[in-house]
Amino acid sequence: MASFPFILQAHQGNHQVELVYNGQQLEFDGLDLDEPKQSSACLPCGPSSASVGGHRIIKTVEILNIIIEHENSLVIAVASAKNGPTKESVLERLVFQVRDKANAAQWQSDVLSHVYKDIKRGRHFKVLVNPFGGQGHAKKIWETTAEPIFKAAGCTYDLTYTTHRYHAKEIARDLNIRLYDAVVSVSGDGVLHEVINGLMERPDAIAAHKLPVGAIPGGSGNALSFSLLGENHGSHVTNAVLGIIKGRAMPVDLCSVTQGQNRYFSFVLQSFGLVADVDLGTEDMRWMGEARFTVAAVGKLLSQQTYPCELSYIPVETNVDKIRAEYNYRRQQSVVWADQTHDELDQSHPTIVDRFGGVNAPLNRSDGWVTDSEDVITAVGAKLPWISKGMLLNPASSPNDGLIDLIVFPKGTGRINGMQIMLGTETGEHIYHNKVRYMKVKAFRLTPKNTSGCISMDGEHTPYAPYQVEAHRGLISVLSIEGRYARSMRE
Ligand code: ADP
Ligand code: MG
Repeated sequence: MASFPFILQAHQGNHQVELVYNGQQLEFDGLDLDEPKQSSACLPCGPSSASVGGHRIIKTVEILNIIIEHENSLVIAVASAKNGPTKESVLERLVFQVRDKANAAQWQSDVLSHVYKDIKRGRHFKVLVNPFGGQGHAKKIWETTAEPIFKAAGCTYDLTYTTHRYHAKEIARDLNIRLYDAVVSVSGDGVLHEVINGLMERPDAIAAHKLPVGAIPGGSGNALSFSLLGENHGSHVTNAVLGIIKGRAMPVDLCSVTQGQNRYFSFVLQSFGLVADVDLGTEDMRWMGEARFTVAAVGKLLSQQTYPCELSYIPVETNVDKIRAEYNYRRQQSVVWADQTHDELDQSHPTIVDRFGGVNAPLNRSDGWVTDSEDVITAVGAKLPWISKGMLLNPASSPNDGLIDLIVFPKGTGRINGMQIMLGTETGEHIYHNKVRYMKVKAFRLTPKNTSGCISMDGEHTPYAPYQVEAHRGLISVLSIEGRYARSMRE
């Protein structure tokens, strides 16, 4: 292969352009073309509708594809951050003319092999669009934003609109997993919750758990998108799609949940009290979008409602300063990809065994269980830092530490503290509030002491009955460019 930089002489109308790719980025002084969205056929060919001198830098990760069209047109499809680092990326087709087609083809091949060095080019996806999710915009999000990016990147897909609850689970359970590079949902976390449970129920769960999942935000609770992309980009469809096309499979822990005679898996949160009420008691506020959670939480906190329960857990770390020191973003820098790990399902077990028993077994004190019987305002176990937009509830959550972040707002917090805590959840600072308890645990069991209320598993309704949760390391994989969640706590 040629050595860097890879240089190609091209032009845009009468304007000469040198395309320089140095392994990190593509640079050129192009025309600032105001390109029509769809076809290159009507592109302005001269400088009349363009200003000269737009110096462009396109990062490697932003390059989706390079194609040569109509003999001498070189088209570079990018999802670029041209509007600024906090704005949604945009799909652009940068069009150039080339004189020497063989030279251009060589450059195209050199650059693309580098851009897709560790990633398969032209992935094939199973896409699930939930037309009911969020404010009902998922279909439009798919058609107008997501689909054109997949096409521009040369990816293909097989699309299903979900028609009912559990449809996504049924599809995942029966999917021919060998046909796809990943399963992608356009909805909130509920559809992915179903996909994951469908995969884990299969007799070939061992093979199925190697099929990565990807999330395109189209629901009202897009915890995975926010956790992967951060507060600024969590609802940006283009950034999410870029992560699906260019990401690698990051191992992610799953929580096994036992309740009554049932057992299933959760990847976002298991909540009781205020957070569950806010999550599930706001279905009639869907029209508000993500704001429904904040509005409801403020109301609940002001009411100071408490919830009787018994909470047992196996602590690993209960000191929040130590958690900050040990589980921050910098500490997670040694990224591990799913194809490099040997996780539980790769061992000899054909099934996933809960080490701490199920909810109906007595607690084995030698495992280190601790029990609290005080009423709470809320108790939430989680595997993701963001639980929705503006709610960085569990800033120390990491994809594959094998632990659950357990957060408790005890009773008697008071309204003023309650509002301080609530404000703190926007930035994750609430975990340092002296009324909040934030822990890393291996497992927990929650037994409600009253007869009715809400328990939410990944935003889905669950019977109001005792449940036990245990983390299993790296059981699924999620497509991610960074290989870790977005920066979520001060160091
Ligand atoms: P949101 O974040 O808006 O809650 P989710 O992805 O969590 O979005 O999906 C919400 C629920 O919609 C899930 O329980 C899912 O099973 C259900 N669902 C999927 N397709 C449909 C449909 N066509 N009609 C009604 N509900 C559906
Ligand atoms: Mg949901």
